[in-house]
Amino acid sequence: MVGQMDITFLGTSSAVPSATRNHQSMALRLPTGNVLVFDVGEATQHQFQKSQVRTGRIQAIFITHLHGDHCYGLPALICTMSMTLQNEISETLEIYGPANLRRWLRSTFQLTYATFQRKYRVHEFLSPNDPRDENLGLMENELPGDNIYSQPSSHWQVQLEDGYTVTAVPILHSIPALGYIVCEPPVPGKINLSEIKPILDRQKDALARQGIKNPMVLLGQLQKGQKVVLPDGTELLPAPTRRGRKVVILGDTKDATSVIPFCEAYPPHVLVHEATNALTSADPPGTTLEEVTASTVDHGHSTPQMAGSLANAIQAKHLLLTHFSSRYRGDESPGALALMEEIRAQAIETAGHENVHCARDLWSFNIEM
Ligand SMILES: [Zn+2]
Ligand SMILES: [Zn+2]
Repeated sequence: MVGQMDITFLGTSSAVPSATRNHQSMALRLPTGNVLVFDVGEATQHQFQKSQVRTGRIQAIFITHLHGDHCYGLPALICTMSMTLQNEISETLEIYGPANLRRWLRSTFQLTYATFQRKYRVHEFLSPNDPRDENLGLMENELPGDNIYSQPSSHWQVQLEDGYTVTAVPILHSIPALGYIVCEPPVPGKINLSEIKPILDRQKDALARQGIKNPMVLLGQLQKGQKVVLPDGTELLPAPTRRGRKVVILGDTKDATSVIPFCEAYPPHVLVHEATNALTSADPPGTTLEEVTASTVDHGHSTPQMAGSLANAIQAKHLLLTHFSSRYRGDESPGALALMEEIRAQAIETAGHENVHCARDLWSFNIEM
């Protein structure tokens, strides 16, 4: 059995929030129950309260870039978590992101007289020319964060406690921005029940004499990767482990082809990609796709077609679109649904398959193997 993994969209708007879309944030819930948060736009803590995701299970927070619609909710979330909630996982809140994140947070906390019950620490993914914070003048409950370099600085990788890896890759936007690739550790192989059940049945009586009344309990042992030796000496070996799930979560981008090499050996189960603007029936007559694309890219963003192209290039099984312009309402009114369906269809054109979804606030997607 492979545990459930899902992603909840806490906010799906681009720069300007609307009554139906909050600023950016996503919560990836792992089979362990732990939660990785990607971006914390303004009022994300309110969205958590409306969702099924518990802030007490947050294991780490990853920031894609320092535009306010992706991080202005972070100081508030940290303060609230520190004041009112016991974290069930660890004493220290781990935060990862680009250069200047640590200094910005520290300045915000110091200038607003913030106090904490819990410790936090900010790790930065740095390139050689980035400003480097030396962890001087720390807040009372701030621990020194890591300055993480990689040579060459094409990507950075962190290993989380339970075997998950998170790789950060620079992607193109109007300011430095990161895409994140989450890889699950290997999962148990599939047990061939039709092959194993007759073998267990044949040994039923001998197993009963050993106190094992229901031979099927031995399947649990195999599932855990342990060998089973039957009374007649027959050895049942666990199925070889399988690669776990891979989830690519991008920040704002006009070009994220830098993630392609990280998906070549093993395509992702999910790609989360922005689709800020599109040419839709709501646009003035005569507007062309070329015009919309040029203006979107000029602002550092993507169209649904661009998102679909990347999904196709990395063979992502599912493409989840987010970060929509405030022109695209995120409710279930017929007009909003029709417009989002237009956007979805445009991404399908280039993705080459129909596993494309437009995210709405508080919508969860179950990531299957
Ligand atoms: Zn944004
Ligand atoms: Zn941005």
